[in-house]
Amino acid sequence: MKLTSVDDPVSWDTFADKFFDLEWFDYKGRPKTANAVRYFHKKVPAHVLNTLLEIPEKIIVFAPTPAKNGQVVPMRFLKNAENQNAGIVVVNAVLIYLSPELERRPQKYVNTSVAHEFAHVFLGNFRLDHPDMVATPNPREEYRDQPGEKAVHDLLVEWGFEKPHRKKKTK
Ligand SMILES: [Zn+2]
Repeated sequence: MKLTSVDDPVSWDTFADKFFDLEWFDYKGRPKTANAVRYFHKKVPAHVLNTLLEIPEKIIVFAPTPAKNGQVVPMRFLKNAENQNAGIVVVNAVLIYLSPELERRPQKYVNTSVAHEFAHVFLGNFRLDHPDMVATPNPREEYRDQPGEKAVHDLLVEWGFEKPHRKKKTK
């Protein structure tokens, strides 16, 4: 049996699996940040990476896209059960992220952005098994036309936050 040592190399995949969740880290929207974490992995000695991997707490690197006003992110916590015999229980939670950029926008825009994220939670389409999440996004479709976004838009129209889509111009 091979004993592992703190000086064993840590692959990028192992490192990335532990710290970078696509829900939390938008590689495409944060190219410099993505370069920086790859650089960190390459640069630091293996014992640093091994030590980081050993940390029992869940560490989330939250680097959302600057293009998004807000975001709904599913979360999971561990908590001591009220019934001592039950030990530790898992609490699923959802984080609604709202960008600081919103403060620079008109109030009406902010109202709609906030309602937008609540609509995602209302529809439950942050759950990974939700039909809208399972559907592979068509990259040629506009963001707002992707299934989850369309459902939110329709709901915002219903709630009085947005106007129905204008007919698309034909190319
Ligand atoms: Zn959305």
